[in-house]
Amino acid sequence: VPLKAVLGTYTQRQTFAPRAPLELLSLEDVKAGLSEGRINVFFQPKVSVADRSLIGVEALVRWRKLDGNLIPPAAFLPVVEENGLIDEMTDQVFQKAVSAMAAWSLAGLSIKVAVNFSVESLTRYEVLDLVHSAIEREGVDPQNLIIEVTESRIMEDVTAPLEILTRLRMKGIGLSIDDFGTGASSMQQLKRIPFTELKIDRAFVAGAPTDDEARAMLESSVALAKRLGLTTVAEGVETKEEWHLIAELGVDVVQGYFVARPMPSEDLLAWAQRNGDVSA
Ligand code: C2E
Ligand code: MG
Ligand code: MG
Ligand code: MG
Repeated sequence: VPLKAVLGTYTQRQTFAPRAPLELLSLEDVKAGLSEGRINVFFQPKVSVADRSLIGVEALVRWRKLDGNLIPPAAFLPVVEENGLIDEMTDQVFQKAVSAMAAWSLAGLSIKVAVNFSVESLTRYEVLDLVHSAIEREGVDPQNLIIEVTESRIMEDVTAPLEILTRLRMKGIGLSIDDFGTGASSMQQLKRIPFTELKIDRAFVAGAPTDDEARAMLESSVALAKRLGLTTVAEGVETKEEWHLIAELGVDVVQGYFVARPMPSEDLLAWAQRNGDVSA
């Protein structure tokens, strides 16, 4: 997908500035921003299909420009990843996510928090220290943490991140295979990693009501996940029709604009109160 197309959809979404620039951030900006605390994290609810209760959130990185406007990950992640800055960004995002989790927990909201990790950082042992120290500092339960890794990236080489993913899992952290269906997983490779959750890519959710192939892909992904004992999550559910279809197929968890858009950590408690997950 061309970057312009990706960013084009963002400019129509209220989460971002209506006139967000359509180009990548420069390396200079990215370096400066990382040291100046320009990294922000938004959180998007994941709810149970059975009763709409809040199960957890996904942490999604955003870049705050000097004028206050927010920039989506597509405009800076490639720059971060290609210039050896991903560990630093992941560290900042993870710390913010874990500290938000601790704050919600104090306010009576105990939920799972999922953080996206780039596969490159999962080949370096430093990532274990980063994760461990944030957990210790905030005193959170690792069982409530999930690390999401994109299927297409992990399938390029399963062996390299296998040991670190296994160690994270042994700490109690959940492992989620993200954007499932886009990466041509080999079943043989897939089952080497101790995943706990499978997130079905939005493309199959969006296509399913009208497109038989998307629906077949959706149904077989759900069946596979169930056979492997994984929690199933449908991402990008935008309409009531999609919600009903997902419910019919027996998906466990939904994340998407139909439920809620990503929001700042301060807004999540109020959202959970309105949703009935925590008393006001
Ligand atoms: P992802 O992990 O698959 O995250 C879901 C993306 O779908 C998010 O885009 C979210 O805002 C968007 N989304 C959620 N519900 C809907 C919906 O109903 N409709 C539509 N059209 N979109 C929906 P976002 O925040 O732009 O993130 C894009 C990708 O950037 C993420 O995809 C993830 O791969 C990556 N990313 C985000 N945060 C981080 C991070 O902290 N670290 C790393 N390494 N990657 C990240
Ligand atoms: Mg994700
Ligand atoms: Mg995803
Ligand atoms: Mg996705």
